Amino acid sequence: ALPKVLVSGCLLGQPVRYDGSHKGAQHPVLDGWLAKQQVISICPEMAAGLPTPRLAAEIVGGSAIAVLRHTAQVRDSAGNDVTAAFVQGAQLALQLVQRHGIRVAVLKEFSPSCGSSQIYDGQFSGHTVPGEGLASSLLRQAGVAVFNEYQWDEAARQLEAYAV
Ligand code: SF4
Repeated sequence: ALPKVLVSGCLLGQPVRYDGSHKGAQHPVLDGWLAKQQVISICPEMAAGLPTPRLAAEIVGGSAIAVLRHTAQVRDSAGNDVTAAFVQGAQLALQLVQRHGIRVAVLKEFSPSCGSSQIYDGQFSGHTVPGEGLASSLLRQAGVAVFNEYQWDEAARQLEAYAV
């Protein structure tokens, strides 16, 4: 069987974002994976039982790794601590990856769950900083190569490299 790829649900047009919208992506690489039924999708936040719509959330007081070590938190824009749900969502993504033997993921940049190189700065200022979301962090710790929606070709090359 062809290898599976994990893709953020919102990039597949699912209306799962905090504001009820999606960020459906268009790319020949994605089209090819979909045609060959290689795509497994997850929205870690919905998988953890968070509602849509929900308040925007950001990692506050440290990195994703710090959140996983309980020295930073995920908070929503009202200040509520939503760390437990975000950690659970990341763990569910990890379980899915392990179940399907997935080694490559394309996840939505800037998200406190799915971001892989830039996330919001924790001050709800609209500014981004280098960093990763909780799901991306946990997947990388398990050896998954995580890309964003600007890196479809890179992700495809990585998938081919693993197949050799
Ligand atoms: Fe869900 Fe990730 Fe998309 Fe956020 S970025 S809506 S957690 S799939």
